[in-house]
Amino acid sequence: MSSTASLRPIYPGATIGVLGSGQLGRMFAIAARRLGYRVHTLSPDTDTPTGQVADVEIVAAYDDLDAIRNFARNVAVVTFEFENVPAATAAAAEQSAPVRPAGQVLHTTQHRLREKTFLSQSGFPVTPFVAVRSLAELQTALARLGCPAVLKTAGWGYDGKGQYKINSVADAETAWAAVQTQEAVLEAFVDFSCEVSVVGVRGSNGVVVTYPVIENAHRHHILDVSCCPARIPENTAREAAEITRGVLEALDCVGVLCVEFFVTRTGGLMINELAPRPHNSGHLTIDSCVTCQFEQQLRAICDLPLGSTELLRPAAMANLLGDLWQSGEPHWDQACALDDVKLHLYGKLQARPGRKMGHLTALGATPDAALERVQAARTALVTPAAR
Ligand code: AMP
Repeated sequence: MSSTASLRPIYPGATIGVLGSGQLGRMFAIAARRLGYRVHTLSPDTDTPTGQVADVEIVAAYDDLDAIRNFARNVAVVTFEFENVPAATAAAAEQSAPVRPAGQVLHTTQHRLREKTFLSQSGFPVTPFVAVRSLAELQTALARLGCPAVLKTAGWGYDGKGQYKINSVADAETAWAAVQTQEAVLEAFVDFSCEVSVVGVRGSNGVVVTYPVIENAHRHHILDVSCCPARIPENTAREAAEITRGVLEALDCVGVLCVEFFVTRTGGLMINELAPRPHNSGHLTIDSCVTCQFEQQLRAICDLPLGSTELLRPAAMANLLGDLWQSGEPHWDQACALDDVKLHLYGKLQARPGRKMGHLTALGATPDAALERVQAARTALVTPAAR
């Protein structure tokens, strides 16, 4: 059955099941509760960002298939907030409730090699890559792609984990030992002018909408700041939106999907990665768009019409990582004192370096003004108040 087969809408009052319990699930649950839905979440942890705002928090391992089946029996539809949900888990849930996006979308996108192969075979522009399963294959691949290049594990990678930049062929042995894997992907290193993403959403009736393109800057492989609209030419933005639409259709995806792109020095686009769920770069849609990405996910999986993606004002987002807590609790009052700045915290109990604890969104007359504002707000969080 195609995932776009028509189902009856799931109306407010029904219960939505979320596999995973991090900040994405939390912001989804907040959107769902605003519309009058109930939310159940399942993960191996307790007092989680999602569990704190859900109606019911179930603690179970993702491979406890009896617990998964029981969870699915008590909800109208199952979604997930991270793409590394095991295929067997999605299949077990599917026995009792629709799972959206479907397990086959997870299967493709949770493995870099499968994802890149799918994209290139479907004719989408993707960073040049070669599959690598041994040191010898890595050396051959390096000869083909040249240096610099990036070696990435094929599965279970995010935020730069399991990646190694190779600057010369002599680094091959160290790189192969460092990624600790049997299966990897070697990618050409792209000398990009900027990174952008498009958050798109596809309804069960096949309707696709996309948000204006978002521009992203990373630090140590983790998203640092985003702004919208991206400061790129209009035709590049249009092309990015069209590619995103095409990917949603080719994957037969129902729900939100984010496509991350490199914009090359000559204005070309290459897909770096797909995320079949609301995305960190789309957090600014909460405060700046008619309908946020989390509400769109809810609408899509419940067979409700999709909302407007109109950007009401240029916006920027800055992630708040655990590092900000190094000298104690940040000065929340100083960021809250700034007009047009909104604070979002995820309720995580322990601040660790690199851990996403929250984010700030700022609105401005232009993306540059919003970016400047959000960075000033983040700096204010760790600046002692003048006495
Ligand atoms: P990933 O986890 O693959 O999305 O990588 C995280 C970040 O590392 C990207 O957003 C880029 O900033 C950088 N990166 C990853 N792959 C490449 C590449 N092939 N060329 C240049 N930069 C890359």
